[in-house]
Amino acid sequence: MLTHYSATMRRNKVDIITLGCSKNLVDSELLMRQFVANGYNVSHDPEKPEGEIVVINTCGFIGEAKEESVNMILEFAEARKQNKIRKLFVMGCLSERYLEELQTEIPEVDKFYGKFNWKLLISDLGKSYHNELSSDRIITTPTHYAYLKIAEGCNRTCSYCSIPIITGKYKSRSIKEICDEVKGLVNQGIKEFQLIAQDLTYYGLDLYKKYSIAELVREISDIRGVEWIRLHYAYPNHFPTDLLPVMRERVNVCKYLDIALQHSSDHMLQMMRRNIDKATTIDLLHKIREEVPEIHLRTTMMVGHPGETEEDFIDLLDFVKQMRFERLGGFVYSDEEGTYSNRNYSDDIEPEEKYKRLDELMAVQEGIAAEINETKVGKTLKVIIDREEPDFYAGRTEFDSPEVDPEVLINKENKLNISDFYPVTITGTQYFDLIGKINLT
Ligand code: SF4
Repeated sequence: MLTHYSATMRRNKVDIITLGCSKNLVDSELLMRQFVANGYNVSHDPEKPEGEIVVINTCGFIGEAKEESVNMILEFAEARKQNKIRKLFVMGCLSERYLEELQTEIPEVDKFYGKFNWKLLISDLGKSYHNELSSDRIITTPTHYAYLKIAEGCNRTCSYCSIPIITGKYKSRSIKEICDEVKGLVNQGIKEFQLIAQDLTYYGLDLYKKYSIAELVREISDIRGVEWIRLHYAYPNHFPTDLLPVMRERVNVCKYLDIALQHSSDHMLQMMRRNIDKATTIDLLHKIREEVPEIHLRTTMMVGHPGETEEDFIDLLDFVKQMRFERLGGFVYSDEEGTYSNRNYSDDIEPEEKYKRLDELMAVQEGIAAEINETKVGKTLKVIIDREEPDFYAGRTEFDSPEVDPEVLINKENKLNISDFYPVTITGTQYFDLIGKINLT
């Protein structure tokens, strides 16, 4: 499907397309700030591209994501051929991983950049990179929340994962640099901070030679105007438990933790090189729930990894039934070249079987999520309003991360302000979401 281009190509206008994860989005936002500092107008993921310059920030994580990135490049390469755009640039994880192949196969692209050298794009246009603005961003999310990238890279060795190949070793940003960025964003009206990294819990080990996520969250939590801090991409092995009292005691730290577990059976955890076993995982989850009452756990599970037996899969289903995660995402194993699994195992589970297992897993989770949702009926929860729809407002509680978790749908009896918090009494559920009404009593 060829994107609908504006009839006229606008000079001095740049369209930035971001694919992949929120970490990529932060890079796009940083690049947008540099373009604006050089006098360009910028737009992000436009419905109708009209800029003379297009930059595609790609994802190279797994098969489906790579395909989406390649298709997007090919689409804009066609527009480049037809002179609908003057310059086409590609950056991010896919071009970090497959630079030479892409350069050979898609010569219509004016230049490919990797994941970390996109700053060169500005000087390649004959413009100057503003170092003083190096952590300033054009926020593309709703004006009350932003993703906050605290580190780049990963030192783990998970068998199936290409991320360390793409991003390299773990590199923490300093606590001062992150807190300065938070203060700047608070001044822009941001209230809610989604903390992200490839591995949040490893934070500080490289820079301060000690686990420092608890200290960082405390420092951010002390900044006036920070209403919500939400933690994503935790890793279970050597989990820094000093984080738990910070989550319990600080009202502006959401009782929410995204911690990817990938599997439960010891056989699979070993083959996946997760460096943790089932018993330790269960102990950790119990400790987290004991120390942070009401915490909502989001996890990610993978099915169809080489060697996964029917017993392993049943173990996973039982584990998910037993642990009752409030939020769970699943995906199938993707055989990524260069990974340990790719070099040492054969991708022996048939695609149909992989997707059958995924469907079964998600069906179990759907039932659990619906039961957990029901327990919220009658409760009054603090909700932030994200957007207004013709018939309702959509918001989230501290237990809901944007774009991946349920929403609270609120009828329009009262006029509400986007980005404000309201006490909402939950009156019902609607599939994945909650239904509520403002409780001003
Ligand atoms: S922790 Fe594992 S799955 Fe996550 S980015 Fe690192 S290697 Fe990949």
